Amino acid sequence: MNFLKIVLPVFKGKKTTEETNPLQKKSGYEALDEWVDAVMKLHEAQDTCFGYPCNQDIHLMSFYAWFVGSGLQELTLNNAGDPFSDEPAFVMSTQKFEREVMEWFAPYYDFEPDKYWGLVTMSGTDGNSHGIYFGTTSLKRKTGKLPVVYVSDEAHYSNYRLTYLQNLDVRLVKTGVDGCMIPEELEKVLDPSRPCLMVYAMGSTFKGAVDNQKALNAVLEKYPEMEVYRHVDAALFGGYLPFTEYRKMVSHKELGYDSISISGHKFFSINSPSGLFFCTREVYDNQQDISVPYLNNNMRMINCSRSGIDPLKFWWFIQKIGHQGWSKEANTILERSDYLEAELKRIGWFVLRNQLSNTVVLKRPSERICKKYMLATGYDEKLGGNLAHVVVMQHVRRKYLAQFIEELQQESGEK
Ligand SMILES: *Cc1c(COP(=O)(O)O)cnc(C)c1O
Repeated sequence: MNFLKIVLPVFKGKKTTEETNPLQKKSGYEALDEWVDAVMKLHEAQDTCFGYPCNQDIHLMSFYAWFVGSGLQELTLNNAGDPFSDEPAFVMSTQKFEREVMEWFAPYYDFEPDKYWGLVTMSGTDGNSHGIYFGTTSLKRKTGKLPVVYVSDEAHYSNYRLTYLQNLDVRLVKTGVDGCMIPEELEKVLDPSRPCLMVYAMGSTFKGAVDNQKALNAVLEKYPEMEVYRHVDAALFGGYLPFTEYRKMVSHKELGYDSISISGHKFFSINSPSGLFFCTREVYDNQQDISVPYLNNNMRMINCSRSGIDPLKFWWFIQKIGHQGWSKEANTILERSDYLEAELKRIGWFVLRNQLSNTVVLKRPSERICKKYMLATGYDEKLGGNLAHVVVMQHVRRKYLAQFIEELQQESGEK
């Protein structure tokens, strides 16, 4: 009995009884089984994986048990086509559930029913791709001109990559030490003679910077003749902010953005790359309706085939975790981030944390500590050079944060 008492809390969130494998443990292929053993060892060490925004507290055993039990693994599920079409393009489709997922999430971003469109994407990058592509098409349709894309020099690289892919002119906007776009710098590079496609960072990758959309929009409003499209890259923060008291930070109504992209495998813990993309109905109506008769004549999204399984996982989590569960998780990661920030300050270790961020930037510790805690590293001259960050995801527990602080303290004592 003592054994249970001691061991269970340590494995909490990892190996609950539900998570033990009721099916076969071994594949019979040596190379594969060896690799699984190694990966499972790494998984045991996830408690101290601090540097990356993937939640490692995943509970999908009941999903897989049902999925295999139902026989669905014998089918190819494919959500090709528009989830908001009256009839799915392909019979073996989970679009009914995809649509329910979008309908469930839409109010969290303050989209009114019938005034938005969206889909479950393949990733945050796929959502950014739709934002930039849809933005370009809308602006071109309205003005006859291609836009200039403005994005901060701290934004995720996918945004620059996508502008190259779509052959668009891009201007990087300088950021302050906090990683947020500087409104005066936007004004300096702005070309009001062409339409403007803004990509706002809602949690930049390294510093967790949230661009101040209101201040930046005020700059754009000085040029009322300039047509503007606003896309928000909210891969990580767009997951948890809607479940906190700061939900206005991601509100379409409050901020007036046209589209937003959120990753599914970050806060929402989907175990395959996936995401959510929302845009206004107006943006959707301005897209090219490429007519493909065998796909219900409605192919506005970029990809043809899309996952039929990821929407089911989202749907499953809505039932299993839902508002209450995600609210609790969102508040917990912010509390733990507060704790980490306060503790770093207490021991006199350089720390930078943006408001509402679960990404805590700090002076880079020794290589040993970086490796042990799998910290992501960065460099910024303005902040004294070598840096690292901790992304406080659901699996990053207070106990391990306390241990991390202790090790930092020891290290600074040794010097
Ligand atoms: C992770 C991340 C991305 C990329 O998202 P994927 O889902 O990995 O494609 C884009 N932008 C930001 C800010 C991110 O944190």
